[in-house]
Amino acid sequence: MPQPPTLKIKEIFASIQGEGLRCGEPTFFIRLAGCNLRCPWCDTKYAWRGGKIYTVDEILHQIEQLHLKWPINWVCLTGGEPLLQDIKDLVLVLKKAGFCLQLETNATLYQNLAIDWWTISPKPPDYFFQNSFLTKAKEIKLVVSSELNLPIIKNIREAFPSTTPIILQPQSNYLWSRKKAWQLLAEATEAGLTSLRLGLQLHKIFRLK
Ligand code: SF4
Repeated sequence: MPQPPTLKIKEIFASIQGEGLRCGEPTFFIRLAGCNLRCPWCDTKYAWRGGKIYTVDEILHQIEQLHLKWPINWVCLTGGEPLLQDIKDLVLVLKKAGFCLQLETNATLYQNLAIDWWTISPKPPDYFFQNSFLTKAKEIKLVVSSELNLPIIKNIREAFPSTTPIILQPQSNYLWSRKKAWQLLAEATEAGLTSLRLGLQLHKIFRLK
């Protein structure tokens, strides 16, 4: 008898989306365990390992329980790197239940899924991304780490449609990174790059999660 599909999950919770263009919107989060990268400044290192095995139906049940208290319809699949696991069945059941889905990925992997809002965040040192995201990405988040510079931003700007927003997100809201983000935005604007903006990690300011 075939086993039901299972996934390794780190946590499921309700909060606000603290990053990107959906910033401030109440959202349910499903944080999948595991990541294929090891960014030294990662703020979710706890998601690299471990995780609890859930069936897809158990995950849906948890989201439905949260929904009883907070009747919102956005679910964000995040990690770690959510595309490390086969999440096709999870996406299907969440869509069937009527949820809008956001997925946050480092863009090194791709699955053809019915995601409403792809958020990609290419990472150093090479800022690699799968070509499928050239047309799928709703937004590109670039963490303003010590590695980020104007040529990298320029390359990404030129690769994607000019209307796809690029968000310069200070590393953990640190002051040095906010200053660098401001400087990079000024330099990029002077260089004629468009659809760039500054971001923040709003959830860390409100400290809801
Ligand atoms: S890709 Fe994201 S989750 Fe993975 S190590 Fe880098 S910052 Fe952390």
